[in-house]
Formats: sequence, structure tokens, C-alpha cells
Amino acid sequence: MKILIKSTLIVLASAATALFLGIYLVQIDSISILLNTLSNQPHATGDNPSKSATMAWRSSGRTNAELISNLYKSQLITSDRVRASMSSVDRAHYAPAAPYEDSPQSIGFSATISAPHMHASAAESLLPFMPENKGAKVLDVGSGSGYLTHVLANLVCGADGKGDGKVVGIDHIAGLTEMATRNMKKSEEGKRLLDSGKVEFVTGDGRKGYVEGGPYDAIHVGAAASELHPVLIDQLRSPGRMFIPVEDEEDRGMFGAQYIWVVDKDEKGEVKRRRDMGVRYVMLKDAPK
Ligand code: SAH
Repeated sequence: MKILIKSTLIVLASAATALFLGIYLVQIDSISILLNTLSNQPHATGDNPSKSATMAWRSSGRTNAELISNLYKSQLITSDRVRASMSSVDRAHYAPAAPYEDSPQSIGFSATISAPHMHASAAESLLPFMPENKGAKVLDVGSGSGYLTHVLANLVCGADGKGDGKVVGIDHIAGLTEMATRNMKKSEEGKRLLDSGKVEFVTGDGRKGYVEGGPYDAIHVGAAASELHPVLIDQLRSPGRMFIPVEDEEDRGMFGAQYIWVVDKDEKGEVKRRRDMGVRYVMLKDAPK
């Protein structure tokens, strides 16, 4: 009997330790990718699990064209503009490994390039505020690899980069803004966007935005915030929209629950916020010393 009680206690204690470690480890970026890969789960889980959890992983391709075409077939991309824009940016220029897999990949500096279906979802959400060749200004906070910055630039400037528009990518790690610049220079179109100043990468704390480049028609935030930073909302144009993952208020980081919030500012400057799908992003944090 004693032995039975003892072994039950050991089993319970190991289960509790595993749960504790699981919760904390899952927050670490690279491990989160590993766990995602092992459990075959996408980087973000959506409101509609049948759509994002199962279809996302079926959307991988052998080429960039195949990846985008599969995302379109799975209805993870629904707009022709986003489809064209993502088709004209080769993800292999930005993801060091498995670029055509619909999953996040490590890019060094404890950062990841997000999964293509998450980039698609962000671009689609911001699309009504990013007309082509109308001088729209966009801020990409946590620009990392620079992939989405390029996709957003194609949306406002056109795939040839000749239209009127501007995208600023901001990241707090200089090694990453340098890497994003190098990545973009791998294509003629990317190089043209940089040379013309229609894309600019700056190093700084994205939680403060980049007031010099605003006000912005669209703001994308690529890492989870602890709050809906009011200073970012201030830098939105009227009308404008922000797409931002935010840590769940009630959860307070305990279980890593996060949701996308879509923040709209109308012509009169009135702000409305809407909670969208559940996601998993790395946190916006202080720059490493
Ligand atoms: N959207 C990018 C990167 C996503 S990973 C891509 O898909 O390639 C999140 C990024 O946010 C990392 O590059 C990280 O360096 C950056 N980041 C984290 N905290 C930040 C902060 N306070 N200010 C700016 N960037 C930050």
C-alpha cells in the first residue's frame, strides 16, 4: 500500500513538473517552433481551427508559387492582391531553411520569420487601408527577416515597386535590420524599393512606433505586445488600421494566451478595437544589452 501511494505521488509530481516546464518552455521561441513542429501545429491557431490548424500545414509547397497557390486553395489567402504580392516575393530570400513550408523558421537572434499563413492573414486584414499607388504609409513593427515588409511594400507600391507608397520596418536588433536589408537586396525589385527610399529599415524600440514616418495608414505588429500601446494608436492616420497580437489580459502571460486585435481609427479619429483569432507570437521586449 505504502509503495502504491509513493509511486502515485511520484507520477503526480512528474506530471506537475512536465506541465510547469511545458508552459514556460513553450514561450521560448526556438522551443516553441520545435514543439509546433513536433505536434504538427501551426505558429498561430485561429478562431477557426479547422481552417488554420489543419489547412495551414497542408499549404506547404515545393516552390514559392506552389506555397502561395496552396495557401489560396486553402482559403488562407482570399484576395488576388495579397496573392500577387506574396507570389512576387521569394520567401527563400528571407527564410534560411524550409522556405516553402507553411511554418515559422528560425532566423537567428532568437527571432523567427512567421508562418506564411500568418503573413497572409495580416496583409489581408490591413488590405483595405493599403491602396496601391496612393501614397499609403505602412509601419511594420518587429520586421525581423524583412519578408512581410517587402510584401507590404508590393501592396502599396505595386510589384514593380514603381507606385507611390512607403513602408518602414522597425526592429530593435541592428543585426536583424541589417539582415532584412541584405535579404531585400537579393531581388532587383527589392533593391529598387530600398534605393528609392520606399522601404526603410530602422533600428529602435517598435513599441514606441516611428513617429518620423507617420501617420500610418496601416501598422503591423509582428510580436506580441503586453498592451495595445497607445503611442502606436496615436501614430495611426484617420482612417487607419493596426493589426497587433496582444497578450491576454486575464491570463497575464501565465499560459501564453494571445489574441490578434484589430484597431481601427475612423475619419473622425474615433478608435474601435476588435479581438480576433488566438495566436502564438514571441513577445515584444527590451533590446538585448
Ligand atoms: N515579422 C518578422 C519577425 C517576427 S519575430 C518576420 O516574419 O520575419 C518578432 C520580431 O520582433 C523579432 O525580429 C524581434 O527582434 C522583434 N522585436 C521584439 N521586440 C521588439 C521591440 N521592442 N521593438 C522592435 N522589434 C522587436
